[in-house]
Amino acid sequence: MAKIFCVANQKGGVGKTTTAVNLAAGLAKLDQRVLLIDLDPQGNATMGAGINKGELQLSIYHVLLGLAEVSQATLFSENGKFHVLPANRDLAGAEVEMVELENREKRLKLALEPVGADYDFVLIDCPPALSMLTLNGLCAANGVIIPMQCEYYALEGLSDLVNTIKIVHAKLNPDLKIIGLLRVMFDPRVTLSQQVSAQLEQHFGEKVFKIIIPRNVRLAEAPSYGMPGVIFDPTSKGAQAYVAFGAEMVERIKSM
Ligand code: ATP
Ligand code: MG
Repeated sequence: MAKIFCVANQKGGVGKTTTAVNLAAGLAKLDQRVLLIDLDPQGNATMGAGINKGELQLSIYHVLLGLAEVSQATLFSENGKFHVLPANRDLAGAEVEMVELENREKRLKLALEPVGADYDFVLIDCPPALSMLTLNGLCAANGVIIPMQCEYYALEGLSDLVNTIKIVHAKLNPDLKIIGLLRVMFDPRVTLSQQVSAQLEQHFGEKVFKIIIPRNVRLAEAPSYGMPGVIFDPTSKGAQAYVAFGAEMVERIKSM
């Protein structure tokens, strides 16, 4: 059965989508069967995988509202070599429409049950909010990967996310745990980055991934070509870090 991971942080622009797309591509390179779920109405993960969000017949919106099966709405990323359950702005409406429905926090979890055996990894790219969409992601997942920029404000808000995860664990999804904090966009020349990084290790110990994703312009350029950075420039430092992260995740799931 697939292991399901949310990439979540309610702060905007911290590298969630970059992490989800490149981890998906890194895992595919390691011959893992991957489904990337775009749970953000911005549709950035969809576009980053090379799928035009403007041309979707079906999307995660239809899945959450019970209008389509996951298998019907899923597309293949030729560039990344993984499957994608895509999103576009329709998804913003789902948030409101779901309020009326039964099992509103568990709609994604229930929808994924039929495809669990088809994948090794399901990765969910969450929106920058602790919303009903993110809650659906957290209810469906075995674990959360939290990308963090090592800057002063990074720690602010982390406690809200950790509390939300604790509440979901206690009330809705006893499976859920924090897999780890991933330091991203890291620039070792910045003293503050080093200080915050050390602070994270102090507070969170084992929960901080050893792999660090550097700030790397090739990762930022890749989405405009509809490609994961891991494919766009495999030799770049950023790409190599994400493939190494993929290898670490493959090891991790062996003991889950
Ligand atoms: P949102 O909260 O809006 O969904 P996000 O958390 O998904 O944002 P990304 O879209 O992944 O964040 O990244 C924000 C910006 O930083 C993007 O322009 C992305 O290309 C860039 N970026 C992400 N990671 C790196 C990196 N390691 N090196 C350089 N640029 C990066
Ligand atoms: Mg994003």
